[in-house]
Amino acid sequence: MAYKISFNYSPNFDSKKRKKDQIKYLIFHYTGMKSENAAIKRLTDVRSNVSCNYFIKKNGNIISMVPDLYTAWHAGKSSWKNYQSLNKNSIGIEITNPGHSHGYKEFSNFQIISLIKLSKLLIKKYKINLKNILGHSDIAPERKKDPGEKFPWNNLAKKNISFWHNLNKKLLFKNRKIKINNLQKKIFIKNLIKIGYPIKKTKQLKINSEKYLKLIIKAFQRRFRQELINGKIDQECLLISQNLVKKFK
Ligand SMILES: [Zn+2]
Repeated sequence: MAYKISFNYSPNFDSKKRKKDQIKYLIFHYTGMKSENAAIKRLTDVRSNVSCNYFIKKNGNIISMVPDLYTAWHAGKSSWKNYQSLNKNSIGIEITNPGHSHGYKEFSNFQIISLIKLSKLLIKKYKINLKNILGHSDIAPERKKDPGEKFPWNNLAKKNISFWHNLNKKLLFKNRKIKINNLQKKIFIKNLIKIGYPIKKTKQLKINSEKYLKLIIKAFQRRFRQELINGKIDQECLLISQNLVKKFK
């Protein structure tokens, strides 16, 4: 391996070993703590009940905290498509960043280079579908913002890690903040369900509340329209969702 990996095992994992083919997702997180050392301490502290499989430090060094074939506790209550509680089906990767509560920063190049190398290896080893490489906020939009709008999803997609739209920036910018009608709103929501977002399907696609919908839209924007996170569906968001759905066929 071209990066430096060390071991600092966390006691927080399911004692039952899982099978290789149960690993279907990669979930990316930021630590959301002021200091890197405090984050490492927390993730390896038996009292915290949280952990991850891999931890990527500011300098790009990687710490293995829970071996791949054991389920780490990183996702919490979560869902995507027909999967619930994604811990058992995923590898969780924490990346040092103070996060939205403590002065959200750009991720370092060292971190992204290591993340790319590590992800490529895991994708190959566990035959992970690129559509199953997600952020914590995708699978738990009502609770989580990580890894957030500074996370370079577009760059990763170019390296064949996860997916992205292929619309040009000018077209998108022209459609930013342009209102949509009710029918278009329904289409947008349907598109998000097709992509995998946890929107509860009920009669006529009404979901539980506008507040919840706003959080889902924000999660979508943090991922695919990182320039403006306002929780409002506009023509740009609709276009992006249409483009992504086409790719999902
Ligand atoms: Zn997280």
